Amino acid sequence: MRLKDKVALVTGSSSGIGRETALLFAAEGARVVAADINAGDGEEVVGQIRAMGGQAAFVHADVSKAGDCENMVAFAEETYGRLDILFNNAGIMHARDDNAISTGEDVWDLTMDINAKGVFLGCKYGVPALRRAGGGSIINTASFVAILGAATPQIAYTASKGAVLAMTRELAVVHARENIRVNALCPGPLHTELLMKFLDSDIKKQRRLVHIPMGRFGKAEEMARAALFLASDESSYVTGADFVVDGGITSAYVTPE
Ligand code: NAD
Repeated sequence: MRLKDKVALVTGSSSGIGRETALLFAAEGARVVAADINAGDGEEVVGQIRAMGGQAAFVHADVSKAGDCENMVAFAEETYGRLDILFNNAGIMHARDDNAISTGEDVWDLTMDINAKGVFLGCKYGVPALRRAGGGSIINTASFVAILGAATPQIAYTASKGAVLAMTRELAVVHARENIRVNALCPGPLHTELLMKFLDSDIKKQRRLVHIPMGRFGKAEEMARAALFLASDESSYVTGADFVVDGGITSAYVTPE
């Protein structure tokens, strides 16, 4: 059991990466607090964890709201006595996110509020809890688009993930002597609802696939396994990293036929 006796808080845990990570962390012995705006699916994840003999609890939290973030951290400490792992994973990719000319301010603001401010608020309330536990691991979900420019524009999303990456490095440096590690998980294009809704035609999917050396979308479970490494003591000397798990997309100049 790689997370025995640890308490982990996972945001965006009702779907995709967060869901798979909550299940995997629990299977590895962690007591999991599953946080999301979608209570129905979140309770279902918690039920699945309990059915396999694990411990988990759901808390409703909109990560763009300070009060909700304060509450989800307090809930973790009240329910399980401590917090060791914080996975700031919740994020959106808005259907009307496009290039700088056509993207509305409302789309920009909402995307930045959830994807970037959500990570800031998670850390604002999470870091003091990790300090109280004597240290811990923070994982922030960024994206490969924080590293590469995408030809399919999504200006607000890209900017928000750049913010997550930059924030992660500073957090890692500032809190390194407190035994708190902070890393960014940078997934490549995944076969989850978030991206499949955005790439809503075969042509759009193909335009993305052609750049991935492995020739396929990644799976949420593959991100969960990377998050597990970053959460566990196996990554004890890893902090401030852009942890890229992307089928090779950020290494490719030309992909093989
Ligand atoms: P998903 O849509 O399957 O899951 C996202 C979850 O976040 C959902 O359960 C949703 O209810 C929740 N959520 C949305 N807004 C929220 C809010 N304000 N507060 C709390 N929860 C909220 O998406 P996913 O693919 O699992 O994405 C997870 C993370 O991975 C996101 O940060 C996303 O940007 C990032 N990511 C995804 C891909 C991809 O290709 N899918 C690639 C790179 C990075």
